[in-house]
Amino acid sequence: MSTMTSSETSTDSAEASGEDTGEFALIARMAARLKGGLPEGVVGIGDDCAALPLSGGGVQLLTCDVMVDGRHFKSGATGMADVGWRVATASVSDICACGGLPGYALVSLVVPPHQTTDSLEALYEGLAEAEADYGFRVIGGNVSGGALLSVDMFMLGETPRFVSRGGARPGDRIAVGGTLGDSAAGLALLESATGAASGTDELVRRHRRPRAEVALVPLIQRVASSAIDISDGLSAELHHLAQASGARMDIQGALLPLSQPLTAFAQARGESPLRWALHGGEDYRLLFTFPPQHLGDIGASPVTVIGEVGEGSGVFLDGAPLPRGGWDHLAPERSDREP
Ligand SMILES: [Mg+2]
Repeated sequence: MSTMTSSETSTDSAEASGEDTGEFALIARMAARLKGGLPEGVVGIGDDCAALPLSGGGVQLLTCDVMVDGRHFKSGATGMADVGWRVATASVSDICACGGLPGYALVSLVVPPHQTTDSLEALYEGLAEAEADYGFRVIGGNVSGGALLSVDMFMLGETPRFVSRGGARPGDRIAVGGTLGDSAAGLALLESATGAASGTDELVRRHRRPRAEVALVPLIQRVASSAIDISDGLSAELHHLAQASGARMDIQGALLPLSQPLTAFAQARGESPLRWALHGGEDYRLLFTFPPQHLGDIGASPVTVIGEVGEGSGVFLDGAPLPRGGWDHLAPERSDREP
């Protein structure tokens, strides 16, 4: 059973479609207990970050992510510096998905009695690497005893313009940064303890040290009509964009960006690499839409146009309905589905 996966920000996605079960239904029910009617300019539950207008102009972004031993990592098997890097990457990626750059963070730890001080120092070494790389600072936090090692990061960021999940319009193009499916393949390699195929190390590295796409933020700011980060798999995130935007997402399998190591990995297993690209989680790539007049602006960027936004609803791969095959954080195990 796969127990390691990404951590959805607590502000993510409360769409109550009536057919969602598990995580999204729970978030919707909890949100319904809260007072509605937020002040002008405040973005509440349902996007990658919550947002507040700043008095001097611009927007303050807020997000949090928790990673729990046995669920998102396995202490003893996962390097603790990697856990620190990944919890920071999850938060930074949500900030980037709203068009922002990270600023400051708080970290809360739940520490079981047997946890060694060395392992917690290693965790903070990973956090420090992420601080230096992404350009944010950890400036506080909280520690409690408890049964399972858990690491929660609360992060602040800023953006001149909040880019939501809900702005995609018919005719917009759909684009994604980097390549897809590498992290999930890396996890499968780690769990199978086999596979000396060429490129294996790169896939494992992409799982242990995924990178939030901070370099794409200026492009997102300039052209994006909507954006989300791929923490739970492309198919799941496309459904989030379609639902939030009230639009249809059409993608083409032949356009999906695949790394050479992923293609080799899938071939060796007799599988289609598309399954990994469509449903694999924790890539932390940015998925966004933009009006077609900006097609010329994205030419030099490391992004790939994979489809187009249409009238209607739902997500389609080569014209056929694409089910949401990503990760539900409350489900007992990963629900990979064939494309
Ligand atoms: Mg997200």
